[in-house]
Amino acid sequence: MPTIFAKIVRGELPSDMVYQDEQVTAFRDIHPAAPTHILIVPNRVIPTVNDLQAEDEQLVGHMVLVAQKIAQQEGIAERGYRLIINCNKEGGQEVYHLHMHLLGGRPLGPMVVRRGA
Ligand code: AMP
Repeated sequence: MPTIFAKIVRGELPSDMVYQDEQVTAFRDIHPAAPTHILIVPNRVIPTVNDLQAEDEQLVGHMVLVAQKIAQQEGIAERGYRLIINCNKEGGQEVYHLHMHLLGGRPLGPMVVRRGA
């Protein structure tokens, strides 16, 4: 079953795409949690961080560098931003196609709500 993000990568579903190359695609989140909320996804389906292999090391580094480039384009690089990858149920993952959230454009507050460890 192709993931919803795989269909976006292939242009079979509409998206507000901001970047694409041979390894990754980036598009705006449909339910933005901040003024800038962009998802960076590998073009190849990798379900979760747990499924990454040693040979994916370059790909993950590329995802971060693409996020850096987009943050500059969005004008939020100097003010600051946050990169998040959720993994599995307790990590809050909803779409099982690896993706990095790029969030910024307002003060984002603490990383997680403190409820005790
Ligand atoms: P996660 O909870 O880390 O799996 O994040 C999934 C994200 O995908 C959520 O922030 C959703 O709002 C976003 N999302 C789901 N469907 C779409 C879509 N068709 N286009 C853009 N973003 C989407």
